[in-house]
Amino acid sequence: MKGGEFYPLSVSKTYQNRGKNIRHRKNTKKINVVYGILQDSDGVLHFKSFRVTSFQALYFKLHLAKKKEFTCSYCNSTFKAYVNNKKDKPKECYFCGKDWD
Ligand SMILES: [Zn+2]
Repeated sequence: MKGGEFYPLSVSKTYQNRGKNIRHRKNTKKINVVYGILQDSDGVLHFKSFRVTSFQALYFKLHLAKKKEFTCSYCNSTFKAYVNNKKDKPKECYFCGKDWD
């Protein structure tokens, strides 16, 4: 995704026209929506949700991001960060800003 990393947190099916007081007929079409966190290039987290095809929804379901705890080896502080897979780790420490690469 442009300008940052996207961390999908959940995938759900919802009606196309969402609203509290709308009654839906039985065969109203449902759409897949992915909810997640987008981290922009400045490291700021934004909540984000967007529509996907059923194939993409399946992909996101299998690749949901996890919140994992990390300890910085430079300043010894512990913090939680979103990761897309087990080997993934933050680029830098949230506290001292030291590069981890
Ligand atoms: Zn640190």
